[in-house]
Amino acid sequence: MTGKRASYARVGARPLSQSKMIDFIKILCINGKLSTITKFILDRQRFMEIYKKFSIEAAHRLPNVPADHKCNRLHGHSFQVTIHVCGEIGAQTGWVIDFADIKKAFAPLYDQLDHHYLNEIEGLENPTSENMARWIWLRLKPKLPGLCQITIQETCTSACVFRGEGLLSNFCHNQALQ
Ligand SMILES: [Zn+2]
Repeated sequence: MTGKRASYARVGARPLSQSKMIDFIKILCINGKLSTITKFILDRQRFMEIYKKFSIEAAHRLPNVPADHKCNRLHGHSFQVTIHVCGEIGAQTGWVIDFADIKKAFAPLYDQLDHHYLNEIEGLENPTSENMARWIWLRLKPKLPGLCQITIQETCTSACVFRGEGLLSNFCHNQALQ
């Protein structure tokens, strides 16, 4: 590569320096409200990400696609819903969170979705995988603060990944994985 393109590539590949990272964190932290996230970024070795998978059998149709589109017809999927939780490893527990707590937090939503016609659920009138992911996120996040990713897999080869609204969620997720 030459010229501007080469320099952009080099800049893009350069990791943030520690001082720039701290400056960025200061911008993120308002009145200490994001102190957990600050630790999350600075002390990555103590943070991990776990996930739990759920299988949901459900019917749906997509009302906003053309009438001759196959997804406009009523059909069903064995949706694989994967819920990721990021967090600090407990000194005593040695884990981020009990998998049973993820199951417990998701249970009411699971009951609403499993073996139901998704289009009849409030907020899921257009039940694409993307809308399902956001629907679950909005209801699960208050119960599961460490929620950092939801994957909705509707077939073996088709899936949607959602990491929450906004830059911050994505930033924290990416930092945790590096
Ligand atoms: Zn479908």
